Amino acid sequence: METWHLNTIEVRETEAFADKLGGLLKPGDLVTLSGDLGAGKTTFTKALAKALGVTKNVNSPTFTIMKEYRGYVPFYHMDAYRLEDSFEDLGLDEYFEGEGVTIVEWPEMIEEQLPTERLALFISYEGETARQIRLEATGERYEAIVKELKQG
Ligand code: ADP
Ligand code: MG
Repeated sequence: METWHLNTIEVRETEAFADKLGGLLKPGDLVTLSGDLGAGKTTFTKALAKALGVTKNVNSPTFTIMKEYRGYVPFYHMDAYRLEDSFEDLGLDEYFEGEGVTIVEWPEMIEEQLPTERLALFISYEGETARQIRLEATGERYEAIVKELKQG
């Protein structure tokens, strides 16, 4: 596992980091986002989508489990918040094996349906406009991404 963290002192910095990460992601990649309500998961997701060429506005999926967007590559956004430890098989493998980048907010809700290899992000509230973003990469592919981010 490769870990790292950074502190942002305003929204723009969180967005800049999402933009940087977006430049390193490839089809088939999985990024998870954990953090309390209001931490900045959706804010991060919107900036990441933009970096991946999505021009449509990204909103948290309320009625659908997964929302698909078209960017340079397909972009799949899932917010598992309302699933509350669902044991129903959601058939997610097609996304993880697919040609898009997948981002999952609240992965804790569907942990047993997610691959262990992923880039896990944990966002925490540090102050009104300050956040800490912790990264945990599992698997060579994701460890390489974090090493690259560390190099700046
Ligand atoms: P979540 O999806 O985790 O519930 P949201 O992204 O919807 O959170 O909301 C986060 C809120 O915090 C937004 O209003 C955003 O503008 C604000 N915010 C303030 N500072 C930051 C920061 N440094 N990084 C990310 N969001 C921030
Ligand atoms: Mg959200």
